[in-house]
Amino acid sequence: MTFDTSDLSDIFQCKKCGDCCKGYGGTYVAPTEIEAIAGHLKTDSEFFVEKYCQMSGTKPVLAQGENGYCIFWDQFCTIHPVKPRMCREWPFIKAVLVDIGNWEIMAGSCPGIRTDVPDDVIRACVEKIVLNRE
Ligand code: SF4
Ligand code: SF4
Repeated sequence: MTFDTSDLSDIFQCKKCGDCCKGYGGTYVAPTEIEAIAGHLKTDSEFFVEKYCQMSGTKPVLAQGENGYCIFWDQFCTIHPVKPRMCREWPFIKAVLVDIGNWEIMAGSCPGIRTDVPDDVIRACVEKIVLNRE
């Protein structure tokens, strides 16, 4: 099979299972993301951090609900239009460029990731996302 690196869905299609939204993922929210999510929820940034985040050192990360899922998971991501960059970009993340073996490891917990893909295709797709924003 040939892969089209301009179409990332060739190698990843989210199955919306929510597995990546479960457990302590340390989903960091940058100040601009806090503003965007707070606006989406029609509240202010301070209230948002207090109610929906926990601190990881000095940085706010999204809190978990009692069920162990991200506080915004409810059969689907309830803040999808404004979800943090970490969630938007998954699984096209820098760690894959550092070690291409991470793609396979991540696939073990994400059914949307294809593993029958040549390393150069994976690398090209990840670079499109990671290098374009750096
Ligand atoms: S684990 Fe993978 S397939 Fe499941 S919701 Fe997360 S990104 Fe989508
Ligand atoms: S913000 Fe949305 S996509 Fe990100 S962890 Fe929470 S529920 Fe999942």
